[in-house]
Amino acid sequence: MPFVTAASQAHDYDVIVVGSGAGGGQAAYTLAMEGAKVLLLEAGRRYRPATETPMFQTPELAPLRATGTPQKPFGFYDATVDGGWQVPGEPYVSAGTSDGERFQWWRARMLGGRTNHWGRIALRYGPYDFKPRTRDGLGFDWPLAYADIAPYYDRVERLIGVYGSNEGLENTPDSPPGCLLPPPAPLVSDYLIAQRARRLGIPAIAGHRAVLTRPLDFKSSPALLHPGNVRAQRILAEDMRARTACFWATPCGRGCAIRANYQSTTVHLPPALASGNLDITTDAMVYEVTLAGDGRASGVGFIERSTREQRHARARVVVLAASACESVRILLNSRNARFPHGLANSSGRLGRYLMDTVGSSVSGQVPLLESLPSLNEDAADGMQLYTPWWLYREQRAGRLGFARGYHIEFGGGRRMPGFGTAAGLEWLTAGSYGARFKQDARRYYGSFVSFDGRGEMIPNDLSYCELDPQLKDTWGIPVLRFHWRWSQHELRQAAHMQRTFTDIIEAMGGRTRGPAESDGARAIAPGGSIIHEVGGAIMGSDPATSVTNQWCQTWDVPNLFLTDGAVFASNADKNPTLTIMALAWRASDHILDRMRRREL
Ligand SMILES: Cc1cc2nc3c(=O)[nH]c(=O)nc-3n(C[C@H](O)[C@H](O)[C@H](O)COP(=O)(O)OP(=O)(O)OC[C@H]3O[C@@H](n4cnc5c(N)ncnc54)[C@H](O)[C@@H]3O)c2cc1C
Ligand code: SF4
Repeated sequence: MPFVTAASQAHDYDVIVVGSGAGGGQAAYTLAMEGAKVLLLEAGRRYRPATETPMFQTPELAPLRATGTPQKPFGFYDATVDGGWQVPGEPYVSAGTSDGERFQWWRARMLGGRTNHWGRIALRYGPYDFKPRTRDGLGFDWPLAYADIAPYYDRVERLIGVYGSNEGLENTPDSPPGCLLPPPAPLVSDYLIAQRARRLGIPAIAGHRAVLTRPLDFKSSPALLHPGNVRAQRILAEDMRARTACFWATPCGRGCAIRANYQSTTVHLPPALASGNLDITTDAMVYEVTLAGDGRASGVGFIERSTREQRHARARVVVLAASACESVRILLNSRNARFPHGLANSSGRLGRYLMDTVGSSVSGQVPLLESLPSLNEDAADGMQLYTPWWLYREQRAGRLGFARGYHIEFGGGRRMPGFGTAAGLEWLTAGSYGARFKQDARRYYGSFVSFDGRGEMIPNDLSYCELDPQLKDTWGIPVLRFHWRWSQHELRQAAHMQRTFTDIIEAMGGRTRGPAESDGARAIAPGGSIIHEVGGAIMGSDPATSVTNQWCQTWDVPNLFLTDGAVFASNADKNPTLTIMALAWRASDHILDRMRRREL
């Protein structure tokens, strides 16, 4: 089965999956490899990483030396096509206008969604992260524990390939032997950061990213991932063999033509297509889930973008994975007499408890890193080392003034010079020019370090999305209106990040351009801007206060599942995508089990 049009779709699918990013790709993979007939509907266009990835283009070959523009915010070569902070013809509304109340929404409209250009940082949630309310009385507990999801983290790591190390640190889970690939060598700046941070009592350990530092174990992993399924094992073994290890040279955000990092388009979809059980229709904009007379989902309504015609596809089970907010939007739009406020919304919680990650950054210049010999530091393109949250004891003792933690992502090294290289040096050079400026540019190149904090946001009643009563997109579908508010926990956490990062830079003998920002409201990045938005259809153990159960299955419609970030009951500091995939695999196993028992 292959790419099909609306006209050539079959009529007897077991499962429809909406969206082909991390959550949809994982669900389609698991279901198709285990024998379910799957139709994947994707709003964006078809995308072929092997031929479309501009891996080796240099900045001067692109307009404006490849710098970011409103159409391509992450630069000309970024993998995103037809997406960004704004998608033409598909607006959204932010009810608040001040920085603290604004919400930004990043979308991709392409096969594979945002997995084509994500940062590949792949951290497991820890045991505390699933039971936050039990620990400090805030937010919500998940209806599952770390032990329930750990086997699925193992599987996802083995399948996609994640490098990292096991350190035995608090709430920073180790992986069983054979799951992680060896980490790459740190950069010179990483070594210095680690040395000086440790003097301040701040750990620095190997990062975890979905990049192949060596070829995958195609001999052992397929049997562990698909026990008893010889056909799936053979397909996966062949596919794993075809993935090449990283050659440390090109920015991962452009995508990877040699399949050395994780993208849904290079990891999940090829073997799922090879199984013969997956059909994909691109340019299919889903706008509603339809219900049969018995209250079960009968399929989805979608708009064929090329003809603008409304179509319908049917299946026994519907899985929404259009990204957290978009899945919520589809459900809010699927109103009917039984669910006048949105499908699966008997709890009234649909759209509520939207969360992003707390973000704050500081960069500085370090004289010890000046005028170093030239060497290739493109490396693994990020997170060779990082700092997991380390102040559990101080927090328990009430010494921090905020709940929940953050991790630190380091940046540094000499990368391919681009538009901004050697710009903004005046605070160091006092405005040199000519031959002196060239000397200065060489001296300071590679001597900057940056620190990005990524912290937990606690869900609150004032951060949510709903349908805008008036505005519709170009397809005639009502759009989302976002409401956003940080609590004091997040604002204080952002101010703490500023102080910590400045302390580390100073411990390196470096300097920052200004003092650490002590006002959290000024230090914190706008809502949505870290692009870790989750929640909106949170899972729980009570149908009165949550939208899905622990299997990502909606309480109200038993054959309707959500396998993206919408179901997150909290948003730990760990970047969400590995957890999205682990939950999607677990939900898909549940669907397969129930279908075999004819309960779905
Ligand atoms: C620059 C950047 C860096 C990031 N770095 C990291 C990182 O390092 N680590 C991390 O964990 N996360 C990171 N993220 C976040 C990560 O990309 C997301 O968490 C992840 O992709 C979410 O997966 P998803 O399947 O829910 O959504 P997506 O990957 O967005 O996929 C959703 C898909 O659904 C399709 N779709 C949407 N609406 C419809 C519709 N109505 N009908 C049909 N199809 C539809 C979209 O076109 C898209 O293809 C990053 C994101 C960005 C943009
Ligand atoms: S750095 Fe490695 S994984 Fe990233 S795009 Fe280049 S080859 Fe692929």
